[in-house]
Amino acid sequence: MKAKCINLLITGTATCIEEHRELLTELDSKIGDADHGINMLRGFQAILAISPELSELNFGEALKKAGMTMLMKVGGASGPLYGSLLIGMSKATPQEEINLKEFVVMLEKGVDDVKKRGKSDVGEKTMLDVLVPVSLQLKEDANNIIDKEQLIKNIIIQAEKGLEATRLMQATKGRASFLGERSIGHLDPGAMSICLLIKTICNIINSHKECT
Ligand code: ADP
Ligand code: MG
Repeated sequence: MKAKCINLLITGTATCIEEHRELLTELDSKIGDADHGINMLRGFQAILAISPELSELNFGEALKKAGMTMLMKVGGASGPLYGSLLIGMSKATPQEEINLKEFVVMLEKGVDDVKKRGKSDVGEKTMLDVLVPVSLQLKEDANNIIDKEQLIKNIIIQAEKGLEATRLMQATKGRASFLGERSIGHLDPGAMSICLLIKTICNIINSHKECT
């Protein structure tokens, strides 16, 4: 992956979090402790601060370092969980160019590590309700010949469906689980942040030739 693309991904995702931090905090104020926007901003600003260093690395090393940064800089549950996602993906990153099938394996490893770290799975009103369907869709599409635009559309549909599904779920993991049935009726903040980030990454990949 080209250094220019790593840079685009870092600045694009950091901007996404900055633009949506109030929304994330507002969602977390309904079923948590109103800090998801602040936590995510702290993590992504720390990654942005080391972007010159990250873009010197190969993609796997950059993912690992970004994951370690999330882990170290973010106090809330989301720091270690996003850290696990990125570090997990880095473990399965090939040295050279990454093709779609290889990316599927990377994402699967990252999602698996989030499950392990969170002792959680789909249906518990967390970021996994977006990550798992997106990962499954990507795997299915990687085995069929479809064009990039359709692939990206499919991913975004799954991310938005997964996010919306969290509204009717009762949280059984994380702070929101303390609310029991009262967690029903609200979107999960972590599902929102990962959905927004996935859409941002899709847009970057779709519109910059450095990232193809
Ligand atoms: P905290 O809950 O410590 O305040 P954040 O508010 O930053 O941390 O993040 C909350 C989000 O983290 C939740 O909305 C949920 O998506 C995710 N989360 C919390 N616990 C888990 C878990 N065990 N497994 C997966 N995701 C989780
Ligand atoms: Mg919180």
